[in-house]
Amino acid sequence: MLEEIKQQIKNCRDCESIFGFEPHPVFWGHEDSKIVQISQAPSLKVHQSGKPFTDMSGKTLKQEWYQISDEDFYNLDNFYIGAMAHCYPGKDKNGNDRKPPKRCFQKWVHQEVKLIHNEIYIIIGASAAKEFFPKSSFEQLVFENQVWNNKLTFVLPHPSPLNRRWLKNHPEFTEKRLPEIRETLHQIIRKRDN
Ligand code: SF4
Repeated sequence: MLEEIKQQIKNCRDCESIFGFEPHPVFWGHEDSKIVQISQAPSLKVHQSGKPFTDMSGKTLKQEWYQISDEDFYNLDNFYIGAMAHCYPGKDKNGNDRKPPKRCFQKWVHQEVKLIHNEIYIIIGASAAKEFFPKSSFEQLVFENQVWNNKLTFVLPHPSPLNRRWLKNHPEFTEKRLPEIRETLHQIIRKRDN
């Protein structure tokens, strides 16, 4: 069932007229991945590489925040890597990345992520968090454990260099919250290796 949806997503071109170029859906993982990670939308670099988090955000996320190797991050048994919009959305008239198209979450992501037999969810970025938890404040989501689809869910700020101000204003995220999340993450990955 997940494989069918993945194939449909791969063929999806719904946003072509909004983007002005051919969409390139990016995702990674299989139905037994232990951790489902959902971020916002691929960057231009990821659009070009076809592999998630092969950019500056990925470097921070994998090396500084998770402190895991690429081998562990791209191990399909560990991570299913998706986004609230599967395609890089292009730039707006001011040269900024367009917001991820909402139709992707409604059409695909909501059903896609429920078909995976994961242990936990990690939601990255305020826009993605709002789709999953529309009534909660972002700070509350980040600093407290959440539950979505009856599973433990962590919410992270976006690791993009553009998000430095939020991190500067919330030092307790890096000092206290992140080590707690990292410990759980490592336990799940290690469990997989045993
Ligand atoms: S962003 Fe989602 S809905 Fe839009 S073209 Fe890509 S896969 Fe389809």
